[in-house]
Amino acid sequence: MTETVFDRILSREIPADIVFENDEILGFRDITPQAPVHVLFIPKRRIATLNDLEETDQGLIGRLMLAACAYARCQGFAANGYRCVINCGPDGGQSVDHIHLHLLAGRRLSWPPG
Ligand code: AMP
Repeated sequence: MTETVFDRILSREIPADIVFENDEILGFRDITPQAPVHVLFIPKRRIATLNDLEETDQGLIGRLMLAACAYARCQGFAANGYRCVINCGPDGGQSVDHIHLHLLAGRRLSWPPG
């Protein structure tokens, strides 16, 4: 698989504003924030898209979501609400082939998205 910008963030080759890390997940601020809070949570093990998930990834993808929810709670914006999004493929608007969960908060988000 071709290296993505997220591999370079994981290897600390390029800087990122990291807000969360454990042995399998990294969370960092999106470089082009779409809301006052815009953090990306990625699994350290590269899985390109949702289409590439396997049954054995069930725990990992659950923990990715739980990491975002825990971050929202500890940062104090969980009660106001937030949005978690994983884009998949060209029609889903995915631009980096390494699964990432967008956590957006801090403003009233419209629906449906564009
Ligand atoms: P998506 O369009 O769902 O694939 O989202 C990819 C996201 O990665 C976009 O919101 C970009 O702004 C973000 N992004 C790209 N390069 C970087 C970077 N170097 N640091 C942080 N976020 C990035």
